Amino acid sequence: MLVICPTPIGNLDDITARQRQVLKTADIIACEDTRRAGKLLERLAIERSQGRPRLWRYDDHTARGQVEPIVEALKEGKSVVLISDAGTPTISDPGYRLVRACRQAGQEVTALPGPVAAVVALSGSGLASDRFYFEGFLPGNRAERQGRLMALEGLRTTVVAYESPRRVVEALRDVVEVCGEEREVCVARELTKVHEEYLVGGVKKVYEELAKRESVRGEIVLCIAAAQAEEDDEEEWKEADRAIEVLHGQGLSARTIKDIVSELYDVPRSQIYDRIDTVIR
Ligand code: SAM
Repeated sequence: MLVICPTPIGNLDDITARQRQVLKTADIIACEDTRRAGKLLERLAIERSQGRPRLWRYDDHTARGQVEPIVEALKEGKSVVLISDAGTPTISDPGYRLVRACRQAGQEVTALPGPVAAVVALSGSGLASDRFYFEGFLPGNRAERQGRLMALEGLRTTVVAYESPRRVVEALRDVVEVCGEEREVCVARELTKVHEEYLVGGVKKVYEELAKRESVRGEIVLCIAAAQAEEDDEEEWKEADRAIEVLHGQGLSARTIKDIVSELYDVPRSQIYDRIDTVIR
């Protein structure tokens, strides 16, 4: 069986009992970098004896030659565990081509739960999380990044992106330009580590805070709040508010009201609970 095994994104104590167990008992660990994987096993006090588990390099970009031996090993009944340098494999990390190939070859695949930096950041950000859009890495090139931000600017869902510490100030400046200085953002830095930090607020303020630092270090997730309803939407909200009043009068739960209103009206789902609070107060 192929097991997709997340590993900690900073704090080694975040390893779970199941993750430790599959790493310990694997025949083969497929990893981005065998040296880093070896070190991780050492730090987790997982001993390798007689070269087992074996460490095989796997990387989506050079995957063609690497998939076949892994599929063959699975066919021989070996257990293969896929890890990445940190967090969950396949999420902005190599792996999905391997999962596809294994499934196509009729091999069993399972995925263990574990940390994804994007989700950790979103849950700690306080931004609406009932729906979100995951962008992966924003482009390094400024024109391309601005293009992506323009495409994302109007989304009525929180946008979550990975960003390099070297470019985050530049990226925030682009968010100010494209989304306006008041758009709320969260820069989540060094999650689960000693210097963990969340900077939350209007993007101009967060930009100014980071721009005045000598340098920005560590790993970063950037969350951008959903676009707010335009003025044109006020009419839609008036209708939705009336519906909320009626539905509330019928004794329906907030959850049911939210589901009905989001089906019937073109209003952002992320704002319906707040609206219910306001209307029924
Ligand atoms: N597969 C990983 C996951 O599940 O989150 C993501 C791998 S991606 C190559 C690495 C990026 O994830 C970093 O550049 C950073 O944007 C984000 N990241 C990873 N660990 C982080 C942490 N501890 N704090 C903040 N961001 C982190």
